[in-house]
Amino acid sequence: MATVTQVSKAATCPNYVNGQWVESRSGRTLERRNPANRDDLLGPAPLSSREEIREAVEAARRAFPAWRDTPAPVRGKQLLRAAQIMAEEKDELARLLTREEGKTVGESLGEILRTINILEYTAGEARRLTGETLPSELPKNFAYTIRQPLGVVGLITPWNFPIAVPVWKIAPALVCGNTVVWKPSELTPFTSRYVVDILARAGLPAGVLNMVNGAGEEAGDELVEHPAVRALSFTGSCEVGSLIYAKAARQMKKVQCEMGGKNPVVVLEDADLELAATSTVMGAFGSTGQRCTATSRIIVTEAIADKFVQMLLERTRQLKVGNGAEPGTQVGPSVDEAQFNKVQEYLEIGKREGKLLCGGERLRGGAYDKGYFTAPTLFDHVRPDARIAQEEIFGPVLSVIRVKDFDEAVRVASNIRYGLAASIFSTDANRIFQFTDRVECGIVHINSPTVGGEAHVPFGGTKASGLGERETGSTAIDFYTELKIVYVDYTGRKRETNIY
Ligand code: NAP
Repeated sequence: MATVTQVSKAATCPNYVNGQWVESRSGRTLERRNPANRDDLLGPAPLSSREEIREAVEAARRAFPAWRDTPAPVRGKQLLRAAQIMAEEKDELARLLTREEGKTVGESLGEILRTINILEYTAGEARRLTGETLPSELPKNFAYTIRQPLGVVGLITPWNFPIAVPVWKIAPALVCGNTVVWKPSELTPFTSRYVVDILARAGLPAGVLNMVNGAGEEAGDELVEHPAVRALSFTGSCEVGSLIYAKAARQMKKVQCEMGGKNPVVVLEDADLELAATSTVMGAFGSTGQRCTATSRIIVTEAIADKFVQMLLERTRQLKVGNGAEPGTQVGPSVDEAQFNKVQEYLEIGKREGKLLCGGERLRGGAYDKGYFTAPTLFDHVRPDARIAQEEIFGPVLSVIRVKDFDEAVRVASNIRYGLAASIFSTDANRIFQFTDRVECGIVHINSPTVGGEAHVPFGGTKASGLGERETGSTAIDFYTELKIVYVDYTGRKRETNIY
């Protein structure tokens, strides 16, 4: 049975380059502390230099030909082994994720189980890297397509799902025959180290997967600018995504950006209000609202608004906020001071823009003073164009927008720069399908929260929430491969007909 290696227990965070754990030479580090308890120091993580990214890209470039020529099903088997190791060590990995990112242990285990599903599904995709066979307009001719890897791909990821998001990029990239340089978030270096350790122990050859810790503006930027990196898959904020998209375009790189959200739930008069209220509170405050798909706008028709808001309020007040490692905790801390301060600023903006019903402040006293805890917050009577209804807060804050009818609800849901996920709660099939057709977003949930996705189903947003092919599922394979078209002429003669 695989066991946790020394590197996953060490107090430092080396980079992983060319199959070796190497300490950064930059001499600059960032301390990572538990966001639920600042006294709990995980350790320093390096802020690696541009040179260290270049070395990783060079390792990935050298490893590419042999990995490309490794049969795809053999590549897939390595992911299956990684899935097995992750399953064996899920509890240890979950404790680390909670300690570093702050989500509850239950949420951490949920993220890990999803990641195991992704590894298993993608391992199977290795046997399905199919093309098409097409008939020709000419006799004794046909055409077919084959999928080929891109080369070295650069992956840049956020802190809020530091296991699932990187793996849903790494797994399809590798199965398709690419080699990888990954720059994780500087807020989750220890969790990232564990993920790489698992993949390394699964037997990946040297140079196939490389990870370099560092700051976005330096290490991340070098990965974006490096000419040997042929494609970039980014998940993070819209601001950084648009920067990366513009820079990558100058070098004609293939780019995929999954970015922020401001996800609405529409509740109509005919909805099961108990279900809608419980699902909404879970979608809004689960993971402390730090999910790209978190519910942050409730759009409810006037006829039921008072009753429904009361139901939301009762449920929100009951949430137990605390250290995610403690049993019974439902809402953890913000990930760090900057994110916490951003939430506090929005609470003040919200008090000017809407009617505060509960929360609206940081939690103080006892253990709360050592972490970044905010009381789950509900604002009512928020205008659709208010800042708290338009901007991504990424914290435990939910805004209620009241509308007169279904048509206004659909307009309000879509009238925003983001377009990631949306939900509708209704029992009217006609309005459900009209909403599904009209709402501007990448993912629609019917009678369930805005959060969640499955390993084999494409995932991603529209407008400022997503650019390029969708992640996960079959569309991930489209991103990590180029299609080559082959025309076959078996007439053995000079062609007499022109085709254009
Ligand atoms: P972020 O600040 O945009 O950072 C994301 C990654 O980009 C980090 O690794 C960051 O490095 C790096 N980066 C920053 N500046 C860069 C630059 N100039 N060049 C290259 N890389 C750079 O986002 P975050 O705060 O980590 O994550 C939260 C955001 O992610 C939210 O907006 C959330 O909605 C979004 N998200 C979207 C999805 C989705 O699938 N749609 C999923 C999860 C999260 P540093 O760590 O050094 O800053």
